[in-house]
Amino acid sequence: MNAPLSAIERLQFELPDLDWITDPGRIARLSQDFAWFSPVLDRQLKDKRADLVVRPRTEDEIRSLVGACVRLEIPITPRGSGTGNYGQTTPLAGGVVLDMTGYNALQWVRPGSLRAQAGIRLGELEKQTRAGGQELRCMPSTYRSATLGGLFGGGFGGVGSINYGPLGAPGNVLGLRAMTIEAEPQVIELRGAEAMRMHHLWGTTGLVLELEIGLAPAQPWLETLAVFDEFDAALGFADKLAHAPGIAKREVAFFASPVPDHLAQLSEHLPKGCHAVLSLVAEACEAPMLELAAVHGGRITYRKTAEEVQKSNRTLMEFTWNHTTLHALKVDKSLTYLQSSFVAGRHVQQIREMERLFEGEVLMHAEFLRNMDGLLTCSALQLVRFTSEERLEEIMQMHRDREVRINNPHVFIVEDGKAGGSLPPEVLAMKRRFDPKGLLNPGKLRDWPAQKAGA
Ligand SMILES: Cc1cc2nc3c(=O)[nH]c(=O)nc-3n(C[C@H](O)[C@H](O)[C@H](O)COP(=O)(O)OP(=O)(O)OC[C@H]3O[C@@H](n4cnc5c(N)ncnc54)[C@H](O)[C@@H]3O)c2cc1C
Repeated sequence: MNAPLSAIERLQFELPDLDWITDPGRIARLSQDFAWFSPVLDRQLKDKRADLVVRPRTEDEIRSLVGACVRLEIPITPRGSGTGNYGQTTPLAGGVVLDMTGYNALQWVRPGSLRAQAGIRLGELEKQTRAGGQELRCMPSTYRSATLGGLFGGGFGGVGSINYGPLGAPGNVLGLRAMTIEAEPQVIELRGAEAMRMHHLWGTTGLVLELEIGLAPAQPWLETLAVFDEFDAALGFADKLAHAPGIAKREVAFFASPVPDHLAQLSEHLPKGCHAVLSLVAEACEAPMLELAAVHGGRITYRKTAEEVQKSNRTLMEFTWNHTTLHALKVDKSLTYLQSSFVAGRHVQQIREMERLFEGEVLMHAEFLRNMDGLLTCSALQLVRFTSEERLEEIMQMHRDREVRINNPHVFIVEDGKAGGSLPPEVLAMKRRFDPKGLLNPGKLRDWPAQKAGA
């Protein structure tokens, strides 16, 4: 007599027409993200694997898959392009990784907004909207490969947040359509604040099928690097440029020495030991930006017009936010990073204080943005010379003690990261409503532990 089929074998047997990925090497790769930026997460997660990966192409395929997984009690971990940083797409209890990249249509674009399926890549969206004179309001430096659903489920914001704040700021996401994880899945439209109860929850509170987001008017952006001999002059320029209300901009990043020494691909533009400011300002605003740089003693070492950027397919945006970390890790594997946010209005003073406190051990990389209240401030993704997990913890505590908020990137439980310890009751209610059996990305919310298929 044949042995009974396992739940996973049964799933594949019941749905033979889906695009299954069964090759162990590909499953291993599609079970991981960029958690290896953290030595702590790398140790905890690098061996975790899905049992299967599936790439549905239609809502019907997604519905059949979800229904069967619920009946067979198989965990489901949604995945976009797997560029998240905290093991967000790594299944802790096996089961199925649901790769959404095959579900990727742009549904409509209107003045100021668009609607698209969750698996569409942001680079593709940006290309399509630019053709009509609009662009994404805020996008991660991974926009080339990252998906819309992945940004919503695991991201925060990025390029453009200097104008529009984080993705979570009201108006950036207008609504969504999500599927419940039930034997008979329901599809529900959520608007405004209710939709945001699925944001940055790592695919634990609902499977997002479509998103409606706000758009910005597109500009031709000039990409520049300005270099400085002094820390304070570079930081002063970055802060003034970020604040300058008449200089339209999409991005301002500050790299204190020796961070620029780690950006090997830009080395010919970054003299050794310099402090640097990377910016995207509207081409029409070049002259006032240059005046401001000159006042602070800055020299422009890199300048590309929007047309040059487009032709070369090379953009400084891919040196900002966590791309800075990625480039630095390529040249020095002993580094790791922090994610922190400063108090608006005190950010320059706090950055200087942290620089003095950790000189040589924590290397300052700050990004200018508007916070949820619209106030200009900085987030930092500092590089850290890693010595031990204990010291890393101590460094984070020393920041907290000085009112620098740490969004801990070395944890894989949602509550322990940016959520700051706990989730509001309405988010937990959303979890119970959309995932009553706790099958979505189990183990990432504190009260929904990881359980193997059929357990
Ligand atoms: C080099 C580098 C630079 C980065 N820069 C930035 C940055 O500037 N700003 C920023 O915010 N982030 C940044 N990130 C993190 C990440 O790239 C972004 O958040 C990105 O938007 C994630 O998209 P993704 O498609 O890769 O999502 P994934 O990593 O595949 O997924 C992210 C989370 O969303 C969930 N998810 C995916 N699709 C769905 C869906 N349809 N329904 C429900 N849940 C879903 C997943 O389960 C997972 O928990 C960076 C990461 C790296 C490695």
